[in-house]
Amino acid sequence: MQFYERDEKALQGEKDALDKRDSAFGVNADMLYLLPGTTQVRLLPPYSDKGVFFKEISKHRIKNGKRWETYACPLEMASLPCALCELGAELTATLDEAKIEFVSENLRPRTAFLYNVICHGGPQNRKNETPEFGKVYCLESGLMVHKQILQLDQDPVDGWADITTVNNGVNLTIKRTGQGLGTEYSVNPHGSGRTDIFEQLVERGIDPAGLVLFDLDNVYTLPTEEKLELVTKMVKASVPKVQPVQAMPIPVAASLAATPLPAATSLPAAAPAAPIPTAMPLAQPIAAPVPVAAVAAAVGGAPAEEEVPAPPAIPAPPTE
Ligand SMILES: [Zn+2]
Repeated sequence: MQFYERDEKALQGEKDALDKRDSAFGVNADMLYLLPGTTQVRLLPPYSDKGVFFKEISKHRIKNGKRWETYACPLEMASLPCALCELGAELTATLDEAKIEFVSENLRPRTAFLYNVICHGGPQNRKNETPEFGKVYCLESGLMVHKQILQLDQDPVDGWADITTVNNGVNLTIKRTGQGLGTEYSVNPHGSGRTDIFEQLVERGIDPAGLVLFDLDNVYTLPTEEKLELVTKMVKASVPKVQPVQAMPIPVAASLAATPLPAATSLPAAAPAAPIPTAMPLAQPIAAPVPVAAVAAAVGGAPAEEEVPAPPAIPAPPTE
C-alpha cells in the first residue's frame, strides 16, 4: 500500500471551504435572535440612503436531518422563480390535508425583519454564548416585535418616536415569554429614557468610529437555482404519501358527513363522539376492498357529501 503523510493544514482548509460554501446560502452577518427571556438592544440608524432602519425579508426554513437551513425566497424578495414555492403551490393544489399541513410547516416562506443593533445584554444561546456589548449585531425578529417597534418609533402620542437616533435614541427591552404557538414578545423603552449610545460605548472603552452597520439588503444571499433545486428535491422526498386504503378516512352517510369518521380499522368500539340518530345504522368496517375510483376521488379532495356505497348495516351502539 502506498500512502502519504496527512497535511492537517490542507485538510482544515478543505473543511473551512466547505463551511464557507454552506454559510453562503445562509446569512452574512453576526446574527442576534430573540431567545426566551429579556434582550436589551439599541436600534441603530438607517443603513442606506433609503433612510429606513430595518429590512423586511422572506425566507424558507428547511429541515435537513437535524439541522434547520434557511433560504431567502427569490420569489418574495426578488420576483424570481422559487422551486420551493412552486412545490408548495403544487402540493396545495392537491387539496390533500396532510400535504397542505406539510406545506404550512415546511415550505411556506416566513416574513422576518432585520435591524442593526448594539446589544446591552441577553440570554445565553445554545453554544453558551451571551451577546457581546460593543459589537454591531443584525437582529432578526418576527412581525409581532416589528409592529411594536414601529409603534414606538412612529407614534409621537406615546411620547417616544424616533428611537434610533445615536445621541438621543431609546434602548429597548424585548421580553420573550411562552412557548410554541403561545410565544409572546413585548417591546418596551428602557427606564433610562433617551440616551446617547456613542457615549455609552465610549464609557465602556469602545470606539464607535470602528463600528460598521450591516448592509441589511445583503444579509441574506439569494440561493442559486441549482441549490434550490437540490433542496426542493430533498423536501419532496419527505412529502407525506397518499395513505393506504385501510387508513383512509371514508365519508359516511350524508347525515353524518359533517363529521367524517376515522377509517374503519381505527374506529374505536365505543360510540363515536358525534350524535347518531338511534335509527341510523352505524358505518362498519368495510371488509371488501374499496373501489380504487372512490379512493382516488377522496384523495383528490372529493367533497365530504360524496356518498360511499353503504356498508352492511349493524345495530347502532346505545347512545347517551
Ligand atoms: Zn420561495
